[in-house]
Amino acid sequence: MKRLRRTVVTLIVLAALALGALLLYGHARRHPEDMPWTALDLTQPVGAFTGRKLAGLVDDAPRCRALLRRAGVTFTALPARRDGPQCGYDSAVRLTGGAQDIAYRPAGLGTECAVAAGQVLWEWHVVQPAARRHFGRGVARVEHFGSYNCRRMYGRDEGNWSEHARANAVDIAAFVLDDGTRIRIVDDWEGGGPRARFLREVRDGACDLFATVLSPDYNAAHRDHLHLDQADRGTLGWRACR
Ligand SMILES: [Zn+2]
Repeated sequence: MKRLRRTVVTLIVLAALALGALLLYGHARRHPEDMPWTALDLTQPVGAFTGRKLAGLVDDAPRCRALLRRAGVTFTALPARRDGPQCGYDSAVRLTGGAQDIAYRPAGLGTECAVAAGQVLWEWHVVQPAARRHFGRGVARVEHFGSYNCRRMYGRDEGNWSEHARANAVDIAAFVLDDGTRIRIVDDWEGGGPRARFLREVRDGACDLFATVLSPDYNAAHRDHLHLDQADRGTLGWRACR
């Protein structure tokens, strides 16, 4: 009797495992973007591992540029720059239009390719859909505080170097809709209106695409911008979304 019961339990467990494997296989076929082992494709929807795959592009600039091209994104590759052992970049790009409608102001923003790829997906999947939902309009411009800056975190004299020191970060200050409406982090973050809801939604959506996202909710140093970076902390590394 005891033996029979054990056999039945074993069979049920095996059946459950088989069913689980089958469901996972089905999901993996329908949603390759949700699987950790599939190759990144910028034309696919954002999945559970898209952010980690984007951060992984920091070490593979040729692949990053190829992915941008394949997705119809136009850009200029910037010449490498070196300002000492901790500062500089090898594979920064400047987005120039093409498949993306948002212009970054001031013009001339250059970031590591992995950050640019994150910006493009953020525009397509997060920023534009959120603007249409909350305001019935698209975003024409994004105002920023820059990317490359040879400094340590918070501009201190000691401590870790900022991702800005490698152009692997960008600070976003405001969004301008196609009717000229300007939504600024510093003015519109607080309050419960559509502007505040829009800003929270674009912050939360950025968390799926960037390794680090810091907003006014994090600290006073970020009261006027969203800091987005692609710090590469490995496949299982931590991600910050605050
Ligand atoms: Zn920053």
